[in-house]
Amino acid sequence: MNCWKDNVKKVVPYTPGEQPQIKNVVKINTNENPYPPSPKVYEAMKNFDADNLKKYPDPLIGKLIEAIAEYHNIDKDMVFAGVGSDDVIGMAFLTFFNGDKPILFPDITYSFYDVWADLFGIKYEQIPLLEDFTIRKEDYIRENGGIIIANPNAPTSIALDIDDIEYIIKNNPSSVVIIDEAYIDFGGVSALGLVNKYDNLLVVRTFSKSRSMAGARIGYAVGCKDIIKYLNDVKYSYNSYTLSNLTIDLGVASIKDDEYFRNIVNKIIETREKYSAELKKLGFTVLDSSSNFLFAKPSGINAYDLFEELKRRNIFVRYFNKQRINEYLRISVGTDKEMQILIDNIKDIIG
Ligand SMILES: *Cc1c(COP(=O)(O)O)cnc(C)c1O
Repeated sequence: MNCWKDNVKKVVPYTPGEQPQIKNVVKINTNENPYPPSPKVYEAMKNFDADNLKKYPDPLIGKLIEAIAEYHNIDKDMVFAGVGSDDVIGMAFLTFFNGDKPILFPDITYSFYDVWADLFGIKYEQIPLLEDFTIRKEDYIRENGGIIIANPNAPTSIALDIDDIEYIIKNNPSSVVIIDEAYIDFGGVSALGLVNKYDNLLVVRTFSKSRSMAGARIGYAVGCKDIIKYLNDVKYSYNSYTLSNLTIDLGVASIKDDEYFRNIVNKIIETREKYSAELKKLGFTVLDSSSNFLFAKPSGINAYDLFEELKRRNIFVRYFNKQRINEYLRISVGTDKEMQILIDNIKDIIG
């Protein structure tokens, strides 16, 4: 007998980090920003007229796309926006990765890439990072149907040199190369400067980390006009109204407050450097971070046991039960106070 379950698309979903619903926890497990969004975002929220909710939002996301284009000093036809960069990258996979050859990405990287590839039936090859978790650019010069690289990479926190990125883009003219810059505001050099030079480059950004707006779900991509047009064609074939009226206003308000943005990014970088040194003092191996998190290997206790014991104490960090990185913890950079609580508890645990 046939069953409707025979016709179900069976996938192994992405596992998001835990969002504990209790208060008074130190939550440094999903790379959120510990600081609130800009005061201008609060103002925009207050000024929003709920009357507007009766209408559909602008399908072109015009106001926000104009603000982003102006911010980066590029043409608005070079910007695409979506419901977080997850939506933007998923849409890009659907749009650009339709060849017969496998797409390429590192074996250790954002764990959504293989999930989208499986969902959309895209073949892929995971290229091992070197022993020190860096990318060897020459490994990306082989037959492929597309490339995606997170820069800085997650969960390693390591940035790839912009010259190496350009080398990969330049030597793959018949593939779209996506550079996922979720963490670029915290270090590394952006590939945005290359979008006018290469028509096969798509740079993806998010408001979730550096702009403290993970809950608002805003992501965007920058590329040549053709790339953006193809992305929009797919978007309008799936869901035309992605960002809400309210979200668009909040996004514009954030972009307009550059001073606040730079200020919190700098604070996080300072805290990162301070507590990277503190962890090293406790014998941890800490990779060189260009992001808002630390990737660290504990000493005197294994990573999983430390993860569990910290959780018992209401301190949430991220552990990946995955080959090559199962001795590491990914620790988002919180406030100095939160990071000090972490250090004090680790000291207490490892004695
Ligand atoms: C957080 C993250 C994203 C997704 O961010 P959203 O904009 O919140 O969807 C994409 N890529 C990487 C590497 C990330 O760390």
